[in-house]
Amino acid sequence: MTGRFAPTPSGRMHMGNAYAMLAAWLSARARHELILLRIEDIDAPRAVPDADRWIMDDLTWLGLDWDGEPVYQSQRLGLYEEVFRLLRDADPSPLYPCFCSRAEIRAASAPQEGDRFIIYPGTCRRLLAHDPHEVRRRLDAGVRHSWRFAVPPAGAPQSQILFEDRVFGAQNFDLGAELGDVVLRRSDGLFSYQLVVTVDDLLMGVTDIVRGRDLLRSTALQIAVREQLLALGVGGADSPAAVPEYAHLPLLDNAAGVRLAKRTRSLDLGILRAQGVKPQQVVGYCAWALGLVPQPCAMSAGEALSAFSWQRVRAHAADVRVPDDLLARLLRL
Ligand code: GLU
Repeated sequence: MTGRFAPTPSGRMHMGNAYAMLAAWLSARARHELILLRIEDIDAPRAVPDADRWIMDDLTWLGLDWDGEPVYQSQRLGLYEEVFRLLRDADPSPLYPCFCSRAEIRAASAPQEGDRFIIYPGTCRRLLAHDPHEVRRRLDAGVRHSWRFAVPPAGAPQSQILFEDRVFGAQNFDLGAELGDVVLRRSDGLFSYQLVVTVDDLLMGVTDIVRGRDLLRSTALQIAVREQLLALGVGGADSPAAVPEYAHLPLLDNAAGVRLAKRTRSLDLGILRAQGVKPQQVVGYCAWALGLVPQPCAMSAGEALSAFSWQRVRAHAADVRVPDDLLARLLRL
């Protein structure tokens, strides 16, 4: 098994990131696995200069080490292009071009709760089925388009994705009903998170995936994309065909019940460190939020490792509200 840290360098880490990183590290180190560091800077406009270095500095400060050199998605564009072409040129291809604008899609679909998936109504999939010449004409004319991953129809047996989550138990998603045909390459040419994360986890040999529960539904899609990649020989014939193990974590919310995000800088590690918070205080609070200890108390990452088990996380499995006076509380631990 191999684990990974997969931070997006869009800002300084906040408590929610530290909590997820701690869980990924504990999962890997409890089984003496490797843990790799992948900087998810595929979305260049969102990447903040130096954020990768702050993340590495904060991980080191927390006592969370990783193996090997960090991998940057921005340096793997050639690889993603190659995989994308394999998918696009496969016969039959799991991809199709989509000429719809965002506004058209929004107008035609019912938005989903929570993780902002909008089920694509299938307009361009029908266009390809009924008028492939028109699709060819538009492609040849250079009409702006994205590429979507065609999922089986809702309710079809192939549309059901089952997996076991180490925290939330048995999961069952219907790709057609709950995800729809997701964009794998945007109309501006950017590869989507869903494609690159699946390619990277496969090619980096990652089999221990730990992240927030907001990505549970994405996991179903990533399993389906991974199967396609394996069927096309991506990762080589000797790559592990098994689905990785997944653990999705409850989320940390602020006192108002809103998930912590980098936009709200209040709890970022830069500020906490500048106020004199110690790594053991952050680790101890996160270990408590994971359900590893009954009360928050200062501890090193190594001490958290002694308290770690997925059974404990699973028994707790509740989102945690971080109080407004977190800084004062951390300093008292
Ligand atoms: N880069 C993503 C994030 O920072 C994590 C993606 C993943 O774990 O698959 O939220």
